[in-house]
Amino acid sequence: MLKVINPATEHVVRELAEDDSSTLARKTATARAAQRAWARTPLANRLAAVRRFGELLQSRRESLAKILTTEMGKPIRQSRNELTAMQGRIDFFLEHTETAIADEVVLLGAGTPPMEERIRYEPLGVIASISAWNYPYFVGSNVYLPAILTGNAVLYKPSEFATLSGLAVAELLHQAGVPDEIFQPIVGGGDTGRALLAQEIDAVCFTGSYSTGRKIAEAVAPRLLRVQLELGGKDPAYVCDDLHPGAAATALVEGAFYNAGQSCCAVERIYVQRRIAGDFIAAFVEATRALIMGNPLDERTDVGPLARQPQLEVLECQVADALARGAQLELGGRRCSGPGYFFEPTVLTRVNHDMAVMREESFGPIIGIQEVADDAEAIGLMNDTEYGLTAAVYSRDRARAERILGQVNAGSAYWNCCDRVSPRLPWSGRKHSGLGATLSVAGIRALVQPKAWHLRSSC
Ligand code: NAD
Repeated sequence: MLKVINPATEHVVRELAEDDSSTLARKTATARAAQRAWARTPLANRLAAVRRFGELLQSRRESLAKILTTEMGKPIRQSRNELTAMQGRIDFFLEHTETAIADEVVLLGAGTPPMEERIRYEPLGVIASISAWNYPYFVGSNVYLPAILTGNAVLYKPSEFATLSGLAVAELLHQAGVPDEIFQPIVGGGDTGRALLAQEIDAVCFTGSYSTGRKIAEAVAPRLLRVQLELGGKDPAYVCDDLHPGAAATALVEGAFYNAGQSCCAVERIYVQRRIAGDFIAAFVEATRALIMGNPLDERTDVGPLARQPQLEVLECQVADALARGAQLELGGRRCSGPGYFFEPTVLTRVNHDMAVMREESFGPIIGIQEVADDAEAIGLMNDTEYGLTAAVYSRDRARAERILGQVNAGSAYWNCCDRVSPRLPWSGRKHSGLGATLSVAGIRALVQPKAWHLRSSC
């Protein structure tokens, strides 16, 4: 049985039966049997179902936000924000799917009879979608919405830390008109995920850590299955000395501590130009101290617990390692006593790249701030990472920011903003941050395969 635990209280909320090889085999077979008919369903019907799903989601927003907060500890205002922002993704996919997968005639020859060359996009078939818990609505829907719209069947395994939200999504999709066989939730943790990969699937779309992503890629490599990986990051932000340090500090506190730092694109390391470093750090520490940590169901709470208990130790080790190597603790640094997996918002300065806190994904409310002399040093440090998800530059000068960001090897570049995802732009990681892209037209096309048609009326 899978125990759903409230990370703020450590109480068991629910116990759920997990899928195993035999239930997975049955679900995969029914998905495969239903997929072709779904692909033949007029696109207008599939669009209508997803539109209705959006309406249902918004009408149930309050209760869904409470479930999300209870099972993974996200502050209630942030859970609500995630649900509200789902509409932007839904609208994007509703608006762009038809043109993204429309036939393309690329040649109408002049000969007799003329040769016509045409590209037609076909669904991949049965897609295993294995998802993370930190933004379960966003990361899940980046795959299942375009997959359903383009005529695929989806076996959706939400994270074991966000299963109730995953089951709620299934219920609403079915209610909206997506057949039960076409979207099937899978309940369980890593073992269930592994067993899912062994089924007769056509593709895997995964969101989670680099270490799991790599295992998944290795597991399906012999079958040459299509794999899409959205993985972790160690995202940098660089604050130039041509702007007011207070404004950048406020923005970056939000980027570092939103969702208790458990965002794939959370700001995980900050570089600041030496001339303004003192003022920037003072403003940053002050803004961090003002954050309210506590019961995530309380409307005032800014920082809730971590979703996973073992991560407390990861953060403790990063703090201890940094201090042993000469860092200065400006704020926080400890887990909180009492029930719940709470860790104090933590700011470390005098850090460097010998320290784990500047190299390894923290995925918690902890940040290192390092002083740099100039843009060249900042670029070198921003690129000194195994990851490549996002990078931010705070500067008054757009040309300067674009020059710097153009030299950083990351999938997303932010000027005077951070920790942001847009349905209109491709979401993709480089190096250990992933393979392929979700969102944007590229993310829709990732769920179909082109067939090349060579057509001539006679030989
Ligand atoms: P995780 O890798 O621990 O788990 C992700 C999913 O994989 C879960 O559903 C889990 O049950 C499953 N799983 C675990 N082992 C498996 C195996 N051997 N085979 C198949 N499935 C398996 O990650 P997490 O803790 O859920 O999420 C946090 C990580 O996800 C962070 O690294 C974060 O940066 C990353 N993330 C990335 C993005 C992105 O878009 N790039 C978005 C959200 C989260």
